[in-house]
Amino acid sequence: MTRRAWIALGSNLGDSAALLNLALNAIAKLPQTQLQAVSARYRTAPIGGPEQGDFLNSACRIDTNLAPLDLLHALQRIELDAGRERHEHWGPRTLDLDLIAVDNVAQTDPELTLPHPRAHQRAFVLYPLADLNTDLMLAGRPVIDWLDSVADQAIERLAD
Ligand code: AMP
Repeated sequence: MTRRAWIALGSNLGDSAALLNLALNAIAKLPQTQLQAVSARYRTAPIGGPEQGDFLNSACRIDTNLAPLDLLHALQRIELDAGRERHEHWGPRTLDLDLIAVDNVAQTDPELTLPHPRAHQRAFVLYPLADLNTDLMLAGRPVIDWLDSVADQAIERLAD
């Protein structure tokens, strides 16, 4: 079964622009998967955690026949290949890939909660998703309806 899935990408360590390119190339090469759309890039201030640099964020939409958990594991492999180190929760990271939603799959497994439970609270997820012209619903409302509620979060759309 082919499903649409939305992935949020972020990096605030190393060459973040190159890491997002690497991640998008790797996503495009996943088996049984087609990369359909990629958002603009955004510079965002980190939320929580220790003092750390700004993030570069983006989002993409894919069509995939991978099961949701297989897709998550594939994304985690891409994170590891990009040299992600998981020392500090909420700390800086070379590459963070979050699975935001897979069509209308709804589940609360701690290994994979769909839709991502905090996506609607984060400007760095919502703005890139809004670029994808998505009708995606998060926490009961369309993505664009959440934008006003994150107006306090610093985010800058970068030129192409
Ligand atoms: P993080 O270190 O912030 O990327 O969190 C990754 C952890 O969250 C992993 O243990 C995942 O199994 C879990 N997780 C639960 N739901 C999701 C999701 N929708 N996308 C990515 N990771 C998830």
